[in-house]
Amino acid sequence: MSKDEAPPAQLSSSKSPPAPLPTKSSSTVLPYQTPWLRDHYSLGKKLGQGQFGTTYLCTHKKTSDLFACKTIPKRKLLCREDYEDVWREIQIMHHLSEHPNVVQIKGTHEDGMFVHIVMELCRGGELFDRIIQKGHFSEREAAKLIKTIVGVVEACHSLGVMHRDLKPENFLFDSPSNDAQLKATDFGLSVFYKPGETLSDVVGSPYYVAPEVLLKHYGPEVDVWSAGVILYILLSGVPPFWAETESGIFRQILGGKLDFVSDPWPSISDSAKDLIRKMLERDPRKRLSAHEVLCHPWIIDDRVAPDRPLDSAVLSRLKQFSAMNKLKKMALRVIAEKLSEEEIGGLKELFKMIDTDNSGSITFEELKEGLRRVGSNLMESEIKDLMDAADIDNNGSIDYGEFVAATLHLNKIEKEENLIAAFSFFDKDSSGYITIDELQHACKEFGLGECHLDEIIKEIDQDNDGRIDYGEFAAMMRKGDGGMGRNRTMRSNLNFNLADAFGVKDPSAES
Ligand code: ADP
Ligand code: MG
Repeated sequence: MSKDEAPPAQLSSSKSPPAPLPTKSSSTVLPYQTPWLRDHYSLGKKLGQGQFGTTYLCTHKKTSDLFACKTIPKRKLLCREDYEDVWREIQIMHHLSEHPNVVQIKGTHEDGMFVHIVMELCRGGELFDRIIQKGHFSEREAAKLIKTIVGVVEACHSLGVMHRDLKPENFLFDSPSNDAQLKATDFGLSVFYKPGETLSDVVGSPYYVAPEVLLKHYGPEVDVWSAGVILYILLSGVPPFWAETESGIFRQILGGKLDFVSDPWPSISDSAKDLIRKMLERDPRKRLSAHEVLCHPWIIDDRVAPDRPLDSAVLSRLKQFSAMNKLKKMALRVIAEKLSEEEIGGLKELFKMIDTDNSGSITFEELKEGLRRVGSNLMESEIKDLMDAADIDNNGSIDYGEFVAATLHLNKIEKEENLIAAFSFFDKDSSGYITIDELQHACKEFGLGECHLDEIIKEIDQDNDGRIDYGEFAAMMRKGDGGMGRNRTMRSNLNFNLADAFGVKDPSAES
């Protein structure tokens, strides 16, 4: 496989007719002004070229830290939809930023000519180039890579995102070494989706596109198909559906037979072939889900029991939020207000998904239905508890600010400036301490009833002086960080403990 013989890299044939060119006031991608890129970074050599963007090495002027900067010339953005696509890409990168195998976004800068996305630098090159270099991988190596790739897919789906352009060019190694981590990049075609809704635009890249995309009726299962194509290529070095022309490739995708006869397939295990067949199942309803792929015997390390399915991100974050003390909840509410639209845009999409009547607040019924649609079967009483926890002001529904506070991933609060802003919100007299009076005041402001303030203070106040200093506050805020997302094992422990605490899940016991 080489890039030269490949047909056009990306499909985007059937976008609806382009909207008129943006007017002057809407010719920006970001809804706010940003500092000049060159005031903070200098750009170096070119690292890669994609469809829209060119990626450069990028040095932070003050710290000399190295990053990658994807620079998108605005002259390539031809219609309003193209502007929206770039904005969505940025929001989705933030939305997925908790995942260790997703390239971390650092910030964005926009000027008259360009949009720059500064992100973590991956020095190990594309997975594509390693395949070309090696020909193909051993089963063990391929299993490790595909586990990472499908792990990213599972995380995307749990956050309501469909990737739509999985291919080896869009996975990068973070270092040139042999044990480098693989990172997903390029969310340029990714979209937010609602469970049960189907999409119809034909996008993706020829070899990797799922049959139902070509038939214009598809959902998130397309990502598992593309991962299946990647797996076939990892093991054999050639794509499973191949022809000289694009239409020939599509014919193969829609009806061709998988070749398990040519070299090296005779020497590859039956288990690997079984998994490929189940990922490249043409009927999306019968295809394995991302989680089922991760549980397939060829993927799992048989010394480790398979993880339980990832809770939807909404559910696991609500659970985590409900276990926090009141001060931390209020502080998250304060921080939520301070975050930029690009950092919380993904949560806004999740909010809209649950707020079905677009009233701007989530009722108990909507939360129940929303959680059911993402596949959880909690009891009414459990949902009620989550509802009460998120409904900080106790008015009976969850408004947007409360939702963001409750579902914010804790990696968003790590930034010192956010913690300081939250601390000073409580420390009204700027004494450097949050006192019991100030806490009382805050509780009133948030409409919180009975608060047991002395208990909260006791829990946080490490030096027992009856008040909370910044160090104690920051320690409390950071405690429990990493309990989800960053580390699979810890997250599954957390789910396990919570399930335990909630008692046996028995849907028939619903009241
Ligand atoms: P496009 O959306 O235009 O395809 P990509 O995000 O895929 O753009 O980036 C194009 C290429 O730039 C990638 O295939 C890769 O080679 C290089 N690249 C992208 N992001 C990084 C990064 N974080 N570190 C190093 N190289 C990168
Ligand atoms: Mg790309």
